[in-house]
Amino acid sequence: MGILDIASAKSIWRGYDYYENNRVLQCEKVSDTVLEGVVRGSGEEQYQVTVDIPHAKRSTCTCPHAEGTRRICKHKIAVYFTAFSEEAKKLIEEAEAYEAEQERMYEDIEEIITKYLRKQKKSDLVDLVYELLMAGPEWQFDRFIRDYIE
Ligand SMILES: [Zn+2]
Repeated sequence: MGILDIASAKSIWRGYDYYENNRVLQCEKVSDTVLEGVVRGSGEEQYQVTVDIPHAKRSTCTCPHAEGTRRICKHKIAVYFTAFSEEAKKLIEEAEAYEAEQERMYEDIEEIITKYLRKQKKSDLVDLVYELLMAGPEWQFDRFIRDYIE
């Protein structure tokens, strides 16, 4: 599996930030399947990274988080994105598409709910609001009392 398939979302986004902020000081394709790189950490420290493209778990990094483990850290991701910038671009495009889709979904839901509520009788709406207030969190109930009753 590819490195992006086994990395956590947190590592991917932090790695993307490192890539974007030019923390990858060196990146070289040493063979068809292996990348070698040097990445600047959050301070002045530098980490040696190798990325095994077909066997991502064999990748290495000298940072404290990943050294001696198979963890995919942000440094490995940053080196990977430096070698494959189209993958970084794809990540951003997918995130933007997802966000746009979420927004469309919320707009649809808002429309459906509004339509539903407009069709209800006033007495049913009173029951519904009361039910929601009693089932909802305490702060909501308190706010309702404060804003509308007191
Ligand atoms: Zn690392």
